Amino acid sequence: MTDDNSRALYDRALSVMPGGVNSAVRAAIEPYPFFVQKGDRGHVIDADGNRYIDWVMGLGPLLLGHNLPESVQAGIQQKASEGPMYGTPTEIEVDLAEFVVRHVPSVEKIRFVNSGTEATTSAVRLARGYTGRNKIVVMQGGYHGAQESTLVEGDADDRAPSSAGIPQAFAEHTLPVPFNDEDAMREVFEEHGEDIAAVLTEPILGNHGIVYPEDGYHEFVREITTEYGALHIFDEVITGFRVGGLGCAQSKFGVTPDLTTFGKIIGGGFPVGAIGGRAEIIEHFTPAGDVFQAGTFSGHPVTMAAGLETLQFAAENDVYAHVNDLGEQLRSGLTDIVADQAPSYTVTGTDSMFKVIFTREGPGRDELDGQCPAGSRQDPDCPRYEFSPKNAGDVKAAETDRWRRIFWGQMKEQGVFLSQNQFECQFVSYGHIKADVEDTLEAYKEAL
Ligand code: PMP
Repeated sequence: MTDDNSRALYDRALSVMPGGVNSAVRAAIEPYPFFVQKGDRGHVIDADGNRYIDWVMGLGPLLLGHNLPESVQAGIQQKASEGPMYGTPTEIEVDLAEFVVRHVPSVEKIRFVNSGTEATTSAVRLARGYTGRNKIVVMQGGYHGAQESTLVEGDADDRAPSSAGIPQAFAEHTLPVPFNDEDAMREVFEEHGEDIAAVLTEPILGNHGIVYPEDGYHEFVREITTEYGALHIFDEVITGFRVGGLGCAQSKFGVTPDLTTFGKIIGGGFPVGAIGGRAEIIEHFTPAGDVFQAGTFSGHPVTMAAGLETLQFAAENDVYAHVNDLGEQLRSGLTDIVADQAPSYTVTGTDSMFKVIFTREGPGRDELDGQCPAGSRQDPDCPRYEFSPKNAGDVKAAETDRWRRIFWGQMKEQGVFLSQNQFECQFVSYGHIKADVEDTLEAYKEAL
């Protein structure tokens, strides 16, 4: 594969942009990332004309793939050509808000913003303003964007900001606990319950491998937050309008949080975020309430059109059946390949999310060993993904160097674009077809 153009572009980028990129993860491909020229259904073509099957899909927003259906294109183009934005309301904001309220169980009212980060930042401020409390509980290995209150590492007893430039005071108010650990959650509530404003969690950890909730975990969090008068916030920036279809992950799990944050798909590929929830809580945002929230670009007509047309297209076509079916084919095919060629790895994911991680360690495995001994894949009574990691620690234990070799080296060389590191997940779009799955499985076979 020639990559002269990408290399030259990266050289230019390095002289004018920190690390040569506008978002950290993009620089992770070594020795340099490929620069994309354009998309084509489920593929991208780079600046040197190389074609890749694309399972990154913009890191999640592109539910429909790179070629947008005509209705979506027309909606975007019309709004852009009429003058992109105004600083005063437009009808399409109301249309998209009504669509979301109709489909997502917990959302009675919604405020649109411009990124997932802005959504979680505003949700945390809202929870603090609403409850009059300071502390938030987050999951270790969870990700809620580049915001001060959630860039915290450690545990509830010993924690610190995970980035330079964040005062320690932020970490004092953030309590990280392991995902799927009811005892740890109970302990932080016993110690800090009176000052906990919210528990903020992704329904499925999508930024640390893919970690699935154990049965009853979200119900437990729902109950304990209610008991202590804290808010339960689902960060559905990744899972929203992907897992569980138009009802989002909360409908799949049958749990109704107080607030939900959105991003990615809800803007149809344009910059977006949103905070939805119970009307009585959302009404605390200014100007209705006293929790300040504002943004020049919020509810941008082009974004609203892209989001609304995308979701309407998904409502009227077989989008979720298609992406979930290909997702299952990928996970199933990968499970067989891993069993044959790399039995120490694990296939994770659900709906249109998938990932291979380089470990089979962790309590998820220990707990199931009795019922599902190694090789139980062949046992039809055994859950297919029996060795799912239970929390971020399990995934972190994996061999990250191997990711670099196998996936940036061999998979990319075979024309398959996978997520840039071991932790981010991979996405199926409506633009992908069965041949993409088959070619990808062949490439995995070769690489593993
Ligand atoms: N929350 C979650 C769960 C995310 O995955 C992300 C980004 N991947 C964010 C928040 C931040 O969103 P953005 O990058 O749009 O700021």
